[in-house]
Amino acid sequence: MSSFYSPNSIQSFIPPQRTLMGPGPSDISPQVLQALSRPTIGHLDPLFIGMMDELKQLLKYAFQTENEFTIAVSAPGSAGMETCFVNLIEPGEKVVVCRNGVFGERMRENVVRCGGEAIIVDDEWGAPVSVEKVEQALKANPDAVAVAFVHAETSTGALSDAEAISQVARQYDALSIVDAVTSLGGVPLLVDEWQLDAVYSGSQKCLSCVPGLSPVTLSKKAVDKIQKRETPVQSWFLDQSLVLGYWSGEGKRSYHHTAPVNSLYALHESLVALKNEGLEQAWARHQSMHNKLKVGLEKLGFSFVVSEGSRLPQLNAIYIPEGTDEAKVRGDLLEQYNLEIGAGLGSLAGKAWRIGLMGYGARNENVSLCLRALEEVMN
Ligand SMILES: *Cc1c(COP(=O)(O)O)cnc(C)c1O
Repeated sequence: MSSFYSPNSIQSFIPPQRTLMGPGPSDISPQVLQALSRPTIGHLDPLFIGMMDELKQLLKYAFQTENEFTIAVSAPGSAGMETCFVNLIEPGEKVVVCRNGVFGERMRENVVRCGGEAIIVDDEWGAPVSVEKVEQALKANPDAVAVAFVHAETSTGALSDAEAISQVARQYDALSIVDAVTSLGGVPLLVDEWQLDAVYSGSQKCLSCVPGLSPVTLSKKAVDKIQKRETPVQSWFLDQSLVLGYWSGEGKRSYHHTAPVNSLYALHESLVALKNEGLEQAWARHQSMHNKLKVGLEKLGFSFVVSEGSRLPQLNAIYIPEGTDEAKVRGDLLEQYNLEIGAGLGSLAGKAWRIGLMGYGARNENVSLCLRALEEVMN
């Protein structure tokens, strides 16, 4: 064999111990990493099925919902987004899409690829979605079947009023499709109380689990719409009528795809940690760590992209001072402090940094390290 094709020099990959304070993935606790390394068992093993049933209960707690359809899609948050759109939207249907950052634009793409028509409600990057504009869009398009919006826009750090938007949607008989990838576990998200219809999240943000899973919950209204579809869902893998048989217990469990067994152990463990801490305590911890970080950042002269009332505690977008070599600062933080912070995305590229305080990463040590490292590197 030619030595050219033989990867002789490659050995095990041993990553460094970083502190992850970007927009995700977030720091993972030792308990969750330990759960990941437990023995792999068959994904139709009765014990594994029992674990999946517990996982559903834990997800219902995290989402604050009684929705029967509450599962984790075996793929990252982007697949949760796609799951909601490909199942709920049929060709020709109108969807009001709120766009105040990167992820709203991705929702628009999803609608278009489903053959739907996206009615865009634009808001400035860094601002929350305007409920009034959503209402105007619905007034002008009363035949819209859904309103899609991002609860916590990770590209800017803005929090939108999910309860108010879904209320307006309901007045016009439209379903709400909600991106809760960054909000779940970090700020209040009350799926049942706010009557949200299709909500997807991600494992790697405030749940502090490994990337690659997407919790999704669908209301009865959303499930009804899927059941009344006239056209088949174009994605076989994400067709929830097929996946449901896989996640519904007691004898009904059938093979659909091989579950990411160990990743699901990790999600189970991270949700047990969330339950043990308590949702409200977790929200309060994110808020108090944000408050500490904010005081420190303002002392260093930084200002926030998002105004106070709609600022996410778990995603702090700050303006980069003029004349700073922003990529070099991030490189120095990574090399000298093993600290990752996020670059700006889209229209904030080169203008802002994004400092995440997500899940296990929302703790005192991280806040102190970040402030100290930023101060030293900037000097
Ligand atoms: C991270 C993120 C996603 C995508 O999740 P992936 O796990 O990266 O696929 C979608 N929406 C928002 C708001 C996000 O922050």
